[in-house]
Amino acid sequence: MRHKATVVCAHPDDLEYFCGGAVSVMIRDDWDICLIIATDGDKGTQDREMSAARLASERRHESMKAAKIVGISKVFFLGKEDGELRSDNSLRPAITRILRSEQPERLITFDPWRKYELHPDHREIGFAALDARLAARLPLYYPEQLRDGLENWTIREVLLFSTDNPDYFVDISDTFDLKLQALRAHKSQWETIWQETRSDLLHEAERMGAMAGCELAEGFKRIYIPEGPVSIKFEHERGD
Ligand SMILES: [Zn+2]
Repeated sequence: MRHKATVVCAHPDDLEYFCGGAVSVMIRDDWDICLIIATDGDKGTQDREMSAARLASERRHESMKAAKIVGISKVFFLGKEDGELRSDNSLRPAITRILRSEQPERLITFDPWRKYELHPDHREIGFAALDARLAARLPLYYPEQLRDGLENWTIREVLLFSTDNPDYFVDISDTFDLKLQALRAHKSQWETIWQETRSDLLHEAERMGAMAGCELAEGFKRIYIPEGPVSIKFEHERGD
């Protein structure tokens, strides 16, 4: 059976920038990847002549091009306004619905606890994705979705990118070029600063690679939620 993962991002180019190498490795290893893009990235420009509507449409086009390069099977656009994401009922039900219908084993998103994360959407989407994971497994969250024929779904593995605490590394030495090629499809964002961006990404992949013991890597914080009741023990109760 093929494995399935869902990547939840705030902006059209987040996947390629933060985890494009690892996702490409997963696809090579027979994973099906579904991508949720919450906003159209319709404020991502310095160009004062550009309209939000035109930028949104260009960026959807760029996203589809990049998804094709990486080999992502499905892309969901939630069409929220750039910069305005909130992890509340304006966003969570839509993500929950997709998790219940796609039924992935692995959820990949931003680490919302990263220190000094300046982009509000990057904080909010991480919380929204994790909260939607919980909602997806409990029937009293958004019960109308179950009446529509969807089932509860439990995701046991979470990988958080853009994290201060990476403890799970993917060797991207063979897919780094593909990551760059896919990121470059987001022309509206990176074309004018491509050389700097490329060298920043190379530097970061080398830094993660040094931690992982390979040439180039992407790092994640991994959370695994075991089956059954979780027993929480405090340090003084352990007896070891
Ligand atoms: Zn972003």
